[in-house]
Amino acid sequence: MALAGRRIAVIGGGITGLATAHAALAHQARPQTVVFESDDRTGGKIRTSAFGGHPAIDEGPDAFLARLPWGTNLARAVGLGDQLVTPTTGSAAVWWDALHPIPDALLLGLPTEVVALARSPLISWPGKLRAATEPLRPRTSTAADSLGAFVRARFGDEVHLRLVDPLIGSIYAADTDHFSLAAVPQIAELANSARSVLLAGRKAKARSVAVAGPVFFAPLGGMGALTAATADALTSAGHEIRLNTRVTEVTPDGGRWRVNGEQFDSVVLACPAAAAARLLANAVPAAAEKVAQIPTADVAMVCLAVPSSTWPSRLAGLSGYLVPKPKQQLVTAVSFGSQKWAQWHLDDSVLLRVSLGRNGLAVLHLTDEHLVAAAVEEVGRHLRLDVQPSVVRISRWPGAFPQYRPHHAALVAAASSALPPGVVLAGASYHGIGVPACIRSGQAALDVACKSAQALAD
Ligand SMILES: Cc1cc2nc3c(=O)[nH]c(=O)nc-3n(C[C@H](O)[C@H](O)[C@H](O)COP(=O)(O)OP(=O)(O)OC[C@H]3O[C@@H](n4cnc5c(N)ncnc54)[C@H](O)[C@@H]3O)c2cc1C
Repeated sequence: MALAGRRIAVIGGGITGLATAHAALAHQARPQTVVFESDDRTGGKIRTSAFGGHPAIDEGPDAFLARLPWGTNLARAVGLGDQLVTPTTGSAAVWWDALHPIPDALLLGLPTEVVALARSPLISWPGKLRAATEPLRPRTSTAADSLGAFVRARFGDEVHLRLVDPLIGSIYAADTDHFSLAAVPQIAELANSARSVLLAGRKAKARSVAVAGPVFFAPLGGMGALTAATADALTSAGHEIRLNTRVTEVTPDGGRWRVNGEQFDSVVLACPAAAAARLLANAVPAAAEKVAQIPTADVAMVCLAVPSSTWPSRLAGLSGYLVPKPKQQLVTAVSFGSQKWAQWHLDDSVLLRVSLGRNGLAVLHLTDEHLVAAAVEEVGRHLRLDVQPSVVRISRWPGAFPQYRPHHAALVAAASSALPPGVVLAGASYHGIGVPACIRSGQAALDVACKSAQALAD
């Protein structure tokens, strides 16, 4: 039933907030939404800008998972369906004193074939033998909800430190010893359903290979094209986006809510948890206290344009590499952007995106000069190359990655259950940090917000 005149405030104009408001377009209740964004642009952590003569190089995410439907569906809904492209290469490496190809037959870093692991020089023979005993080990409890503790118990420290922690830790900028196992559903499902993760992983891997298709999609114009097209779709349909408008107050008003003094029927907090905690501190302190407990990690992304004439052919065809924690100084991962994405090709340069910092490795106190010098020195050493970039760009991302500590899901459930009707949490801080998960969370939040507005109308 249409809720004529019902208004929903959406706080935050990142992908979550935009997806929240966009869901109103197709929702049977047809509410009116207003997106409040403190910045002078939409997109939040999604930002695409010119670099090295190219008009659109991502400063944050450069792709979204294709196997989850929400990113692809939103891209199609806003007219980008025919502009989705896939990486030209999926071949990546781990740097452990030299570049080692990531072994075959891994599932998020977990071995599913002993033979494939045995062939890799990345793991020592004692490490391989330890991992090979996994199918013989008794079931490991998942009660501690620590990804690192679980993987170490099953496969040993080497597989954890050289494969699983680099692969998953780089997705979340996390230390996986202090990261929720349940927050990585692909592994949690194996851990909870079978005694041997290796054997269950082998079946899961075979199923995922059977469902052929791309792993990642990106819009041709960069991830910023997705948020721009979503914002356009909203405003064209008469919804409002207010830029440069920081929300400072969310207060109850007899079943409805006031946002910066203006009345709404419900409110979706699609801003990071720290901002949500501040906004809820007076109105709903019990929820604010829970939400404030979700920490974040800062990162920096340094882009380097390296002259093609100095780029060795031995690195052709590689999408980039990861640096495991014992070998990290500041650099955690390097993407060979213009080898990974055909549309990023530059005639005279190879474009590198260098990630620095993570949970437990602070970088944002460093000067721009220091960050660039670290990127150039470390990448040069890793690749045995004299890196002399012709152009550099530094993107600083404070609070970039929410850290899902063990029992994160229980913390989020407690926060949500402390919320009164009409206030909904959404976004990367709660149910998944990837772009598709954020979109899903915004869509679900809109539905809950509509139900609250509906209850007011009845
Ligand atoms: C460097 C980097 C690389 C990444 N790579 C990938 C990747 O390849 N693939 C992938 O799927 N994901 C990736 N991610 C994760 C993903 O980009 C983010 O989790 C996601 O974009 C977060 O979206 P969001 O809308 O929930 O939050 P945000 O993007 O943080 O948006 C929140 C918005 O709320 C606004 N706001 C805050 N407080 C207020 C207030 N009081 N009033 C009004 N507005 C407010 C902020 O200005 C911001 O615009 C990456 C993230 C980073 C930082």
